[in-house]
This record gives sequence, structure tokens and C-alpha cells, in this order.
Amino acid sequence: MLILAKPAYKDREYKKRKFPLYAAALSQLFGENLNTFYAELGLLGHNGIDVACPRGTPIYASHDGKVIYRSLSMTAGLGIKIATNDAYAYEDKVCHFYTIYWHLSQVFVEDNEAVKEGDLIGMSGNTGQYTTGAHLHFGLAPCYEQNNQYIKLYPNNGYGGYIDPLPFILTNMTEEMLNKLYLLTFKREPDAEAVAKLGLKLL
Ligand SMILES: [Zn+2]
Repeated sequence: MLILAKPAYKDREYKKRKFPLYAAALSQLFGENLNTFYAELGLLGHNGIDVACPRGTPIYASHDGKVIYRSLSMTAGLGIKIATNDAYAYEDKVCHFYTIYWHLSQVFVEDNEAVKEGDLIGMSGNTGQYTTGAHLHFGLAPCYEQNNQYIKLYPNNGYGGYIDPLPFILTNMTEEMLNKLYLLTFKREPDAEAVAKLGLKLL
């Protein structure tokens, strides 16, 4: 299922979202539940977007921030989390955000390292139990900072505290980038109306 809700930021726009790869195919969207293991993880469905790409594809930071996590998970493989430097108004809260990048083959950043939007942070891969091919899992979580820890704002939202990152990415993509991006759907035909709303062209 496609999630097309507009972001509900007030006062201050959550800008500078950029796609962490240059050209890619979205292989699974947020909220889709094509595999049963999301239920095993206590989730309603997929809690990020998957971008199919060959192992060794450069992965870039999608925003300025600080590396708050850099580790190996049994299920999700090698991953990085980057928190925003600034806080933003989101719904009725003021919060930070962090982006997550999973299943990497290599990581080029250190804990607490300051990164800039567009910095090379790692290489894509196929690490972790919950992956069936090389891809990047990209997630976005509203969070708050307390004693230098970044704590999820909505840990019980059914998606492990993550929200759909796609609206934030799409608002900052150039037309050229959008045209390169296409939806690769599993076991179903794309919803043409939804694809049109996203401004994507089906290839
Ligand atoms: Zn994923």
C-alpha cells in the first residue's frame, strides 16, 4: 500500500531531505507487508523504504547531522543512524529526526562524527538476516535528544517509531532525479493514480 500523507510540519519546514542514492529503484515502500517477518518483529508492516541497488553502491548522508549509531544487527546487518543537528516542529512536538541506513557492506563514518548532506557514509550490501538481495533500507524517525541520547518520539506507532520518509525525499528531488526513479513493485500492478501523485514516471 502506498502512503501518500503529506508531512504535518508546522512553523519550520523539515527541509534538506535528499535521496541517499543517485539512481535507484524503490523495491518496497513504507507500510507494505509483503513478508511475514514484520509481524515477528511486532510491526504492522515495512518501516522504511527499500532501494534495490548493487552491492557496493555509494550511500550518501541525506542531511547534515551527527552519527549516533554505527553497528551490526543480526536482523538488519550493518547500519548507520544520523540525527539532525536542529530540532523541528513536527505535528504538535518539537523534535529531532534521525535517518537510518541498513544492510550496508561497508561503513566509512565514526561514532559521533559530524556529517554533511551528500557525504559518502558507506556502501550498500546485503547484510543481516532480513534481506533477500542487495538493497538499502532507508528509514526516518522523529526523536528527541536527552543527555546526548536520541529517543524515538513514537516508539509504539506500529512501525517501531519510524514514519514514511518518501514525502520528505520527494520534495527535495530534482525532476531529473525523479525521472530516474521508478517503482519496482512485487506481485502487484502499480497504482497509477498514486504513482502520478508522487510525480513519478513509470518506466
Ligand atoms: Zn526495508
